Amino acid sequence: RFIAFEGGEGMGKSTQARMLAESLRESGLTVTLTREPGGTPGAEAIRELLLAPPGSGWIMEAEALLFAAARADHVAHSIRPALDSGGWVICDRFIDSSRAYQGVAGEMGDDAIMGLHAFGSAGLMPDLTIMIEAPQDIVSARLAERDGDNSDAIGGRTSAYHAAVNEAFRDLASREPARFAIVDGAGSIEDVHRRVLSEVARRLGA
Ligand code: C5P
Repeated sequence: RFIAFEGGEGMGKSTQARMLAESLRESGLTVTLTREPGGTPGAEAIRELLLAPPGSGWIMEAEALLFAAARADHVAHSIRPALDSGGWVICDRFIDSSRAYQGVAGEMGDDAIMGLHAFGSAGLMPDLTIMIEAPQDIVSARLAERDGDNSDAIGGRTSAYHAAVNEAFRDLASREPARFAIVDGAGSIEDVHRRVLSEVARRLGA
């Protein structure tokens, strides 16, 4: 089974992905916990290119291609083999991030992004996509608590860009309710973890 975590920055995706992986391992499952952009040496190298662009920065078309290339490597060398051997895969971000960031906020369009995904990764989709949503004031406080200058973020983006991303995620989730579980990101880390576990149990029986 393949589970992706999605949402804007500061929603607690990485923490929740890690906690879910631990819980599923405790129940005896074989779990690969991974993230994108990254997850394999090739894709991590592309991640570095995305986070610290050489020269004057990527045009949006190149950015979309780099994300698709990173994902193709990650799927071929990590996600697909893990799924084929019967394991579970939990990925911190996947195709819906490209659809929201490059497709909607970056105005590349969903057909272009899904076309690249079909070409690069045979269109692999998660069985379940957990989208964590938290009120903007909580998210802003969390982001301010991380280092002020988040070295893990693609720079130069406006708050309008991030608002468009969040809106795009909500739209994607409402169009595919069978694949998406929207989880309330408010409350303690444990509260959110319990909500995630109940969605996984209800939808995937684990
Ligand atoms: O998940 P994480 O916050 O580590 O993502 C790293 C950076 O890449 C973030 O700035 C995120 O907004 C950005 N990103 C993006 N497009 C994607 C996936 C991530 O712009 N498809």
